[in-house]
Amino acid sequence: MDKHLKSILNKQVERTMDNLVRNNMTALYVETKDEVIGKVSEFINEGDLVAVGGSVTLFETGVIDHLRSGRYSFLDRYMEDLSRTQLEEIYRKSFFADTYLTSTNAITEDGELYNVDGNGNRVAAMIYGPKSVIVVAGVNKIVKNIDEAIERVRRIAAPANSTRLERDTPCVKTGYCVDCKKEDRICCSYTIFGQQRQKDRIKVILVGESLGY
Ligand code: SF4
Repeated sequence: MDKHLKSILNKQVERTMDNLVRNNMTALYVETKDEVIGKVSEFINEGDLVAVGGSVTLFETGVIDHLRSGRYSFLDRYMEDLSRTQLEEIYRKSFFADTYLTSTNAITEDGELYNVDGNGNRVAAMIYGPKSVIVVAGVNKIVKNIDEAIERVRRIAAPANSTRLERDTPCVKTGYCVDCKKEDRICCSYTIFGQQRQKDRIKVILVGESLGY
């Protein structure tokens, strides 16, 4: 990357991290996705009960494979041939996890996390339940403020997720949100994580690459 562009990006990352810390979240930065597992491991003890929210980033960074290594008691929502009942049991058990890992739809420079969920299991566990929450996100998730976060979800995250999940929603065809009323709609609960009461329960690992959507 051009060094001038990199210097601007670094300032954006610094602002975001400073404000995450002001909002009582831990903020860490790693340059590449290869460094993510090392950082994540520092926060999880062997044998801990761990669970994850739906996330492309966790696959791209190798975190899902790491959680499957046998070091942890992993509530694996991606296990093959899970029935809907088994999946929902994993969602519920996840509230008792020692650590919950996820990404986020957007991070504002004001230090907020913005997420839109269909089931709501991911945002619910981020809000309350697991003792510790680790958020892994590429710098592509950083936006200026909540207005830009909403726009990011409407123009990138939700249409891309609808496409990945093969949903029958109009954004799969248009590539942007048209506020559908379809049964398959994946946008149901809209959440902003501002200043946290429990300091450092949420740990944000920012990665200097584009990850997920
Ligand atoms: S509300 Fe409907 S159209 Fe808009 S992003 Fe969500 S699923 Fe797509």
